[in-house]
This record gives sequence, C-alpha cells and structure tokens, in this order.
Amino acid sequence: MDCSTAESMVNRYIDHTLSVNELESFLEHVEECSSCYDELETYFIVHKAMEQLDENGKDQILDFRELLEEDIRKSRRYILKKKFFRTVEGVVICILAAGLAGFLFYAVTQLL
Ligand SMILES: [Zn+2]
Repeated sequence: MDCSTAESMVNRYIDHTLSVNELESFLEHVEECSSCYDELETYFIVHKAMEQLDENGKDQILDFRELLEEDIRKSRRYILKKKFFRTVEGVVICILAAGLAGFLFYAVTQLL
C-alpha cells in the first residue's frame, strides 16, 4: 500500500468502516510508515476530542496516544478473530462438502 491510499483510509479507520482486508493492510502500512501513523494520530486525536466535547467532558481521557494504541490493538484482535472464523468456516464447509459427497457416493452405490 502507498501513502496516499493509506491516508485516504484514515477517516474510515476511525469510523471503523474498513473491511478486514483493508484494515489489515492499513495497519501494516502505518506500522512501517511513521508519517502515516502521525497522520492517523492527528485525525484520531481530533476525532476523540470532538467526541469528548459531545459527552460534556465527563470521564475525560487525556492520553489520546494511549487510546490510539489501544484502538490499534483492538483492531488487530478483530482481524485475528475474523480470520479465525473465516478459517473455521472454510473447514466446516469442506467437512460438509466431503460429507455430502460421501453421502451421494453411498446413495449412488446403493442404487446400482
Ligand atoms: Zn505512508
């Protein structure tokens, strides 16, 4: 991924509207590229600051950097979870397909 693609995804990262694949390549990029990470950090801080204004300032969190790191950790866990379920889903489909094939084979041999 190049920087302009990553920058165009910053807002969608913050809104959590990136797909799992997009999210993964986005996080990979910002981890390697400090200028995009800074960009993300700036937008993230502005966004969180606005959110806190809306919430009338109760439970104010001042350490936005920490908050962003936490958000990235959460996103990583989300990716892992999605990948895990996708794998499980793939395995289940394979088992079902094999079961169905086995059943059909059995049914056909019974007919002959
Ligand atoms: Zn970059």
